[in-house]
Amino acid sequence: MNDDFEAKGKRKKLVDELRRKGISDEEVLRAIDTVPRHKFMDPAFLGHAYVDKAFPISSGQTISQPYTVAVQTSLLKVKKRDKILEIGTGSGYQAAILAEMGAKVYTIERFRELYLKAQQTLTALGYSADFFYGDGYAGKPQYGPFNGIIITAAINEIPDELPQQLITGGRLVAPVGDNSFQVMTLIERESEDSFKTTTHGTFVFVPMLRGTVNDK
Ligand code: SAH
Repeated sequence: MNDDFEAKGKRKKLVDELRRKGISDEEVLRAIDTVPRHKFMDPAFLGHAYVDKAFPISSGQTISQPYTVAVQTSLLKVKKRDKILEIGTGSGYQAAILAEMGAKVYTIERFRELYLKAQQTLTALGYSADFFYGDGYAGKPQYGPFNGIIITAAINEIPDELPQQLITGGRLVAPVGDNSFQVMTLIERESEDSFKTTTHGTFVFVPMLRGTVNDK
């Protein structure tokens, strides 16, 4: 399936479904309507690309559910030219959504195979992002400060150094919890030394793990 009429029609239906589920940020919905999610999945599973579900990719990881991508992206309140750090590139779909919204994206992945593949996928679609192969626990202070940080793997606790890489007014969104479920957590940097934390529902992500895997 190329990005043809059929895929476009399926994306419109997906956007309608996300609206019904409470997503209201028009820029987020426009990006989901635009980015061809099927290009981020194995061609054998194209029929699953526009179903609102997570799906397996390589290295035992998953492409996040569209609803989850929509919730996290809405919480980030992305504006054009914002610098956004993503921890957990995976398929690169979330990174493409951010790029489509005009963000300058920095994204880190611990599996070398996924890091390479996501880079290829985004380049082929004409999106640019800065890709890093590494362990994202420490963030990327040398590229910060960021308007937003998005963690797309389940983390037990947010390391102190990550919110420190936000600008004042910046937002960090992460699923915090153990392997059974996580609470979507938003940290807003209100000033140099004050941070506000709020929670936004429960989700299930693959775990955030230490170190890198050189599988390609
Ligand atoms: N954002 C992705 C979904 C990724 S699933 C998408 O749009 O497809 C979570 C990803 O986080 C996995 O690819 C996993 O390998 C990666 N990950 C887990 N721990 C990590 C760490 N410490 N540093 C960087 N990436 C990590």
